[in-house]
Amino acid sequence: MENKTEQLIFEKSIPGRKAYSLPNLDVPGQNLTKLIPAEALRHNLNLPELAEVDVVRHFTNLSRRNFGVDNGFYPLGSCTMKYNPKVNEEIAQLPGFTDIHPLQDESEVQGVLELLYNFEQYLCAIFGFKAFTFQPAAGAHGELTALLMIKAYHQQQSTVDCRLSTVRNKIIIPDSAHGTNPASVSLVGYQAIVVKSDKRGNIDLDELRKVVGDDTAGLMVTNPNTLGLFDEHILDVAEIIHKAGGLLYYDGANANATLGVCRPADMGFDVAHFNLHKTFATPHGCGGPGAGPVGVGEKLEPYLPVPRVIKSANSFQLSADRFPKSIGRVHSFHGNINVIVKAYAYVLALGAKGLREVSENAVLNANYVMNKLKDYYYLPYDRTCQHEFVISAKWQKEKYGVKALDIAKRLLDYGYHPPTIYFPLIVEEALMIEPTETESKETLDAFCDAMIAIAKECEENPDLVKNAPHTTHVKRLDEARAARDLKLRF
Ligand SMILES: *Cc1c(COP(=O)(O)O)cnc(C)c1O
Repeated sequence: MENKTEQLIFEKSIPGRKAYSLPNLDVPGQNLTKLIPAEALRHNLNLPELAEVDVVRHFTNLSRRNFGVDNGFYPLGSCTMKYNPKVNEEIAQLPGFTDIHPLQDESEVQGVLELLYNFEQYLCAIFGFKAFTFQPAAGAHGELTALLMIKAYHQQQSTVDCRLSTVRNKIIIPDSAHGTNPASVSLVGYQAIVVKSDKRGNIDLDELRKVVGDDTAGLMVTNPNTLGLFDEHILDVAEIIHKAGGLLYYDGANANATLGVCRPADMGFDVAHFNLHKTFATPHGCGGPGAGPVGVGEKLEPYLPVPRVIKSANSFQLSADRFPKSIGRVHSFHGNINVIVKAYAYVLALGAKGLREVSENAVLNANYVMNKLKDYYYLPYDRTCQHEFVISAKWQKEKYGVKALDIAKRLLDYGYHPPTIYFPLIVEEALMIEPTETESKETLDAFCDAMIAIAKECEENPDLVKNAPHTTHVKRLDEARAARDLKLRF
């Protein structure tokens, strides 16, 4: 039964069957076909025709095949699939938030403006910045917003000081960077310069000095980086970039290791984005909706998108006029408000102490799993990790021809969502694991047991792993074809 392929709802359709029964129209003199202009009426819509119960069963069955953090452990490195408390959903669904419209008069939406104003203050306290914008709808969007501000800043600088005639058009990025970083750089017309990591997974300072110069617009870095390692020379990195006249961008998409522990602004960063949908327990997946607020220090504050929420006397206003240097809007209205409300509720519920505990537990859990697995999988950077770590299937590949992809697929048979694989690019056969703080020791132990069992299977029965998954509805897919030969309709 379970493995039976589910027909499309169109295939289940029976002509004439209905999921509703409406009374006949009894308004005198009214005729439906007259209410709708003839040119707008269509007769062959090709919609599925089913009874309500069949529609409900169809979609419920399909939803059961999906994997989500609500039905299993989801250690997807970098993307943070932590559990999202349901109370945040309830709060975001309060009519005071859902029934307002962004074009309403400011006097009628004081509550949501106050929320934005307060949350900006909280994020400033958590990350050390001077101001925030909530407009960006995702991390990559935050990167773009920040780079536009950096560009506006350099343009302004060169008009103030004409000795700065050299064009600053290069952004330095470590080789462990998230793929969105170089993409955002080219989107604003800058050039990405890659700098190597050293043996401990830090930015190689000698390599950095070689590429820094008058043409450096800035540096983009994630810290802890995508290896899950905190850069031990971050203050030196900041000094090198600032001395050259560049700005420092902090990719804080995933801030799960640092809450209440350290702040990017204190490390010398001028600007940063943070994914509410990763760190602040708002659900995400399938491309959204998210929120990637951007925080800025003194140098970039004038360039923040408008309108900004300001407070005067006892009320809140939206202002654009006060910020003439702003880069303008990067999103309609004020961003994905619903996502912001969930994150706000999460921050209020935890408070300063609770947020610090989030990070302490995220780091503890990651180190616990890493140390349990490192005898079975190659660990390229063997030092204390932060919220995530990267192991490699190098041993399994060399000895038994089993790749990271095969291990990821085999995990599905054990009931786990696979970790991120083949990223970061500098680790061969990478498996990037982020357990998050929301998992119990029992769950982590069970996951480690599955990983260890798979390592044994690689030895004893490599074909079992290479042909996995065996228990899922859909078996091994041709992933290259799935990405290149898209069929988005049927
Ligand atoms: C997820 C992530 C991003 C991109 O965030 P989106 O919301 O997916 O655009 C950027 N950098 C890092 C380090 C990330 O983990």
